[in-house]
Amino acid sequence: MEEERIMTPGLEDQREERFENSLRPKTLDEYIGQDKVKENMKIYIEAAKKRGEALDHVLLYGPPGLGKTTLSNIISNEMCSNIKITSGPAIEKPGDLASLLTNLSEFDVLFIDEIHRLSKSVEEILYPALEDYTLDIIIGKGPSSRSIRLDLPKFTLIGATTKAGALTTPLRDRFGIVNRLELYSIEDLTTIVKRSSNILGVEIEEEAAIEIARRSRGTPRIANRLLKRVRDYAIVLGDGSINLKITKHALNKLEIDELGLDEIDRRLLETMIVQYSGRAVGIEALAATVGEEVDTIEDVYEPYLIQIGFIARTLRGRKVLPAAYKHLGYEYKGE
Ligand code: ADP
Repeated sequence: MEEERIMTPGLEDQREERFENSLRPKTLDEYIGQDKVKENMKIYIEAAKKRGEALDHVLLYGPPGLGKTTLSNIISNEMCSNIKITSGPAIEKPGDLASLLTNLSEFDVLFIDEIHRLSKSVEEILYPALEDYTLDIIIGKGPSSRSIRLDLPKFTLIGATTKAGALTTPLRDRFGIVNRLELYSIEDLTTIVKRSSNILGVEIEEEAAIEIARRSRGTPRIANRLLKRVRDYAIVLGDGSINLKITKHALNKLEIDELGLDEIDRRLLETMIVQYSGRAVGIEALAATVGEEVDTIEDVYEPYLIQIGFIARTLRGRKVLPAAYKHLGYEYKGE
């Protein structure tokens, strides 16, 4: 369904990817928001460059669409190095990782998305590579097999994950720099929407940019996607420039409400209010009732609903909060 696609911040196809790439900031100064992360990274990058060393390995974690891939590209750009992009599930065998590593040049960035999904055998090859820039390869089989050690160029691994908790301790311990990306403020998202409009050559009113920002659930990828949809409406219904009226009309048509909630958010909350009468409910039960994956609820829906105070994580499960009742027009009867 279209609405689901817009609000689910995963990448869907190549066209979508090209659209995103055209909007990606290229330098740290262009990267909007995440001030703490930016400040830290500026210092680490400068220090590494002054020392003439590779940047320490970096772990970036946070919900999808917050700019982990973008930031990794920027880091390699600022280090004046190349970046190789891959993902945990794409590295199937230790040999796949070995060939990636041996093809790197000094100070290059290896970006592994969804790093929590690396297999155990691949992860074990990674440890000495991260620690000593060496690679142990076993040649041959059986009693005649032997292990040889290869030196690797001094590279930087950037691992991205939506689930820092799913990383094994030995892997997590090998990242010198750990950054958590936060959901963006409405101000930062407004700046992102205006910047993207500028790149796309579309005029946008300040109020319209704020409105899109407000409904983007703290996520730049969603903000850019909404902008693209609103632009279509502006072209068909007006002269192509985006004002508040067209923005509201388009977003309402897409069934994205004032807080950026879509049909699935509403179904989730309603299930908790009506079916579970506001009691704490386990994530598995909730996922089964609404027909979504546990991972999708945890990574995509929940962070924003927690941020706006609609649900809470408790020891007994997820609990729906009074603000959600109010937003959906239900009477809150208390505990
Ligand atoms: P992630 O890797 O965390 O899923 P991406 O790096 O792919 O997210 O970002 C998704 C989109 O959001 C990109 O197209 C990028 O243009 C935009 N974006 C992300 N972070 C920022 C930012 N800080 N400033 C401007 N645009 C951003």
